[in-house]
Amino acid sequence: MNVAKTPVAKNEELTVTVEDLTYEGMGVAKLDGYPLFIEGALPGEQAVIRVTKADKKYAFARLVNLLTTSPDRVTPRGRAYTQTGIAPLQHLAYPAQLAFKATQIRNLYQKAHLDVPVLATLGMAQPFGYRNKAQIPVRDVNGQATTGFYKRRTHELVPLEDFYIQDPKIDAAVLVVRDLMRRYQVPAYDEANNRGVIRHIMVRRGYFSHQMMIVLVARTWAVPYLDELVAGITAALPEVVSVILNLNERATNVILGKKTRVLYGTPDLEDTLLGSRFRISPLSFYQVNPQQTEVLYTEAIRRAGLTGHEVVIDAYSGIGTISLTMAKHAKKVYGVEVVPEAVADARENAKLNGIENAEFVVGKAEDVMQQWKDQGLHADVLMVDPPRKGLAPEFVAAVGVMLPPKIVYVSCNPATLARDLVALQGFGYRADATQPVDMFPQTTSIESVTVLTR
Ligand code: SAH
Repeated sequence: MNVAKTPVAKNEELTVTVEDLTYEGMGVAKLDGYPLFIEGALPGEQAVIRVTKADKKYAFARLVNLLTTSPDRVTPRGRAYTQTGIAPLQHLAYPAQLAFKATQIRNLYQKAHLDVPVLATLGMAQPFGYRNKAQIPVRDVNGQATTGFYKRRTHELVPLEDFYIQDPKIDAAVLVVRDLMRRYQVPAYDEANNRGVIRHIMVRRGYFSHQMMIVLVARTWAVPYLDELVAGITAALPEVVSVILNLNERATNVILGKKTRVLYGTPDLEDTLLGSRFRISPLSFYQVNPQQTEVLYTEAIRRAGLTGHEVVIDAYSGIGTISLTMAKHAKKVYGVEVVPEAVADARENAKLNGIENAEFVVGKAEDVMQQWKDQGLHADVLMVDPPRKGLAPEFVAAVGVMLPPKIVYVSCNPATLARDLVALQGFGYRADATQPVDMFPQTTSIESVTVLTR
């Protein structure tokens, strides 16, 4: 067996200078080019660290003691928020977080030889308590239903009552459900044996409407004391307009199952965005930072330069939030989205807002885009807002034939954005500038909007 010697050993203590911050928010120090990744360390800081894991090509270490501190360091809210990955940048001052995000995009563009300027990230005045949705695991800890969050890369629950980046009303709602489960001794899910009942508590709260939806994700339809739970929830939380039971029988990391049953109130909740009303059902995607979503959409719509005469394709259209906002300034909008419930929401939302020039198709964007191309559909503006993996090659190929004069690319992953911009340049597109919008303060997620023209 070939046992290679590593440059450092587990538990070794070293003094290092931190040079960089990874896209995951870990400090990086180097020993003759060998990288050490250190949780909670910031560039410029000198620190004593202890190696926790040593590999041939890199090592992980933890801070023992800071010898110098970065001017960008702020007092973190608590270790749990880094351990769980809820707020991995909590120790970095907010202006530095915004700069970090723009720099991440710049670095990726440089690697891809993309000559596209990256503007300063648009941030929030209050960069916490912003999330309008939570999916909180429930586990039995010492015989009691307990809510919290998993330690990163584990299924070890860290009990938490204050989730810091969530709407505090959502934190309070989670505790109401937890306490009712304790009172009636409703069993929490037992992951090791795929036993027990309540797996997750999902809460959504309309930032503008103040309507709240509670989803109990359960392993079985039969939930002991279900009526008591629902009565307790609605008595304690007057904002609740909907209580849903979601069935997830399988031993899986996927949180929601596909089947739901309405236990109380309406099957969806309503919120407004940029003056339009939106109904959101439990399985549909809805942006989690409503204040910054308005900033992002305003940028996207302004950059699309709509005059009322354009045909727009909105690919990855979700419940139609961008499509319907754009429909007010365009001739016609075609949306495509893979989740049928989201498309049903989008159609209902069009009616709700009296919008008649928007059509929605269920399907994979890459397939439907090919069909539209084959049918000779011409779009003046192509709006894309794909998931982290970016645009599928078939999608890009169809764009290369349809050649819409303008593409507005909303991205939640700068790595796939850079890749896709390179491919689109191959069809003669040029990107003007990328505008990052901070949708996820205290975390390393980076959202941006870029406009390409031909
Ligand atoms: N533009 C919407 C949704 C963006 S999130 C908004 O701002 O609210 C991305 C959406 O793409 C999700 O609704 C997801 O269900 C959908 N999606 C993921 N893969 C897809 C695919 N291959 N084709 C079409 N839609 C897809």
